[in-house]
Amino acid sequence: MRIIQDLPSLKKYVTSAENIGFVPTMGALHAGHLSLVATARQTHENVVCSIFVNPAQFNNSADLARYPRTIEADLAMLESAGVSAVFIPSVEDIYPKPTKLSLNFGDLETRLEGAFRPGHFQGVGLVVAKLFHLVQPKTAFFGLKDLQQCLVIWRLVEDLSFPVELSFLPTLREADGLAMSSRNVNLTDNERLIAPFIHQQLQAAWQSLVAGASPDTVRKAAQLAFEANSAFRLEYFDIVETESLGSVSVLPETYAIVVAAHLGKVRLIDNLLVGD
Ligand code: AMP
Repeated sequence: MRIIQDLPSLKKYVTSAENIGFVPTMGALHAGHLSLVATARQTHENVVCSIFVNPAQFNNSADLARYPRTIEADLAMLESAGVSAVFIPSVEDIYPKPTKLSLNFGDLETRLEGAFRPGHFQGVGLVVAKLFHLVQPKTAFFGLKDLQQCLVIWRLVEDLSFPVELSFLPTLREADGLAMSSRNVNLTDNERLIAPFIHQQLQAAWQSLVAGASPDTVRKAAQLAFEANSAFRLEYFDIVETESLGSVSVLPETYAIVVAAHLGKVRLIDNLLVGD
């Protein structure tokens, strides 16, 4: 596995490697990231993984400072996962000068995550566009755990005609249902024990919807359940249309149940996709 830490070396690698499968990450890797790598490897001889904690997508400096960094363990995991190259750029490599460019994703960047993390998706769009230009992948792999991110990147690729295929893959969970996330290591032992509450609420909501309850009723029931559990501070719990992420009042065939909540110092997000 090559470890590439500067742009000239990346350029050299990209010129010699064909059909790159690309898995962009912020490090602190877990089995969810490795599932993207494993899928990429099935169809791509050359799999490149990037590790870059992108300051432009953090609207909260404490969150950026707290973001876990475990580079040695990450490299060991990627090596045994059979990655061909890992790209670890510096902030200066990615942002040599401050940019005035701003991407606008319309409703997609202001709903849900965007409402609580202003500017987040502009930062995501910017870094993914830069990484696509630098790595020139044939296919890029992203996790549906970050559903809104997948939609933003899909728009980016469509609207700017990036010659990149996108592959969106299911969320890997711990045995108790908690969605795997780099941030989970910041949970205390007690918080970790109660964290699956989030996934339980998603499943309870899905069961109620399937049994015929209206989205409004289900939304309110979930909000009450979170209010009754003082360990959590709910940001949103919603039933949304999967492409626009607009809230629904009548249940479509395909929809997503989405949630974001703080547990202690950790902000957790999760979703359930129903239908195609
Ligand atoms: P991150 O390092 O959090 O930016 O995540 C890098 C990629 O891994 C993103 O495409 C995420 O959606 C994806 N990812 C994160 N957690 C999971 C998970 N539990 N299962 C599958 N993919 C995930």
